[in-house]
Amino acid sequence: MVDKTTSFRFERLDQTLTQLNNEDCMIIAGGTDVMVLHKNYRGLPARIGKPVVFIDHLNELKQVYIQGHDLHIGACCTYSELLENRFIPDTLKRAIKTIAAPAIRNRGTLGGNICNASPAGDTLPLLYVYNAQLLLRSVNGQRLVDISEFIQGPRRVQRLANELLVEIILPDVLDEGSRIIFEKIGNRNADAIAKVSFAGSLRLKKDRIVDARFAFGAVGPTIVRSSAIEQKLIGKSFPLDQKVMEEIIADFDSIIKPIDDQRSTAAYRKTVALNLLRYFLK
Ligand SMILES: Cc1cc2nc3c(=O)[nH]c(=O)nc-3n(C[C@H](O)[C@H](O)[C@H](O)COP(=O)(O)OP(=O)(O)OC[C@H]3O[C@@H](n4cnc5c(N)ncnc54)[C@H](O)[C@@H]3O)c2cc1C
Repeated sequence: MVDKTTSFRFERLDQTLTQLNNEDCMIIAGGTDVMVLHKNYRGLPARIGKPVVFIDHLNELKQVYIQGHDLHIGACCTYSELLENRFIPDTLKRAIKTIAAPAIRNRGTLGGNICNASPAGDTLPLLYVYNAQLLLRSVNGQRLVDISEFIQGPRRVQRLANELLVEIILPDVLDEGSRIIFEKIGNRNADAIAKVSFAGSLRLKKDRIVDARFAFGAVGPTIVRSSAIEQKLIGKSFPLDQKVMEEIIADFDSIIKPIDDQRSTAAYRKTVALNLLRYFLK
């Protein structure tokens, strides 16, 4: 017997929010995570177990615009759309180019990568480093939440059943002067899930560090970032003294606790994560 699934595809966002408020539904944007997670035997439709609400077509969720110094990205922008958008920072585009292959990039969305909350999600380290704020909306109104509070663990996010992620906001992203990088280590350059990923950002005034941010992916249940360690670099002169650099690396050594899995070993992940940090600090 084939399971039947009720599905909704409303024309407007307000209708979609009303449906999410009335009934517990599965939200599908690009479906590239949902369909894998709920796949059925060959030839049979996915087993989702609750009504489905499609959101990928909603115009309100596909806008990219600048307000003040902040960049607002609609949650349902696909990777391919973001690659073509002139407002998207080059470093984010470089990260997106490492994701899957074009077919998946034509469907997969930034909002889906965040709400799926995989520790290996490739946009996440950079979004942490950008201090991304997430705009969630329901029939009751909207709220802003920091990405590091929103993501609680693998596939666990702080989202109410009636809420949609509407926008990703990158504060002050257009301010110049920061050196930002993203590095992903996988079996090949693209179409591979990360064994380790790293994003770093440093801002200098003359030769002094005024802002430092580091985020590691695929080395713990969520992205690893520590503002306490980052603060130790504020006011330090650059290039860094060897002793200061080793202290920072030792601090991250004590909080990065990867696991062995089918993609890599804990020892490899830890070594590579710290090497990426050292490379960036140099
Ligand atoms: C072959 C293949 C290769 C892949 N390679 C990579 C890779 O290299 N790197 C990588 O990071 N990922 C990869 N992925 C995973 C996936 O493509 C990405 O995570 C993608 O960004 C998911 O977006 P989506 O729109 O398809 O999400 P969906 O599958 O539609 O949704 C994912 C989750 O988020 C929820 N959701 C989606 N949008 C919203 C919203 N606006 N508000 C609230 N909840 C929402 C859904 O309910 C679901 O729980 C790959 C997947 C496949 C199938």
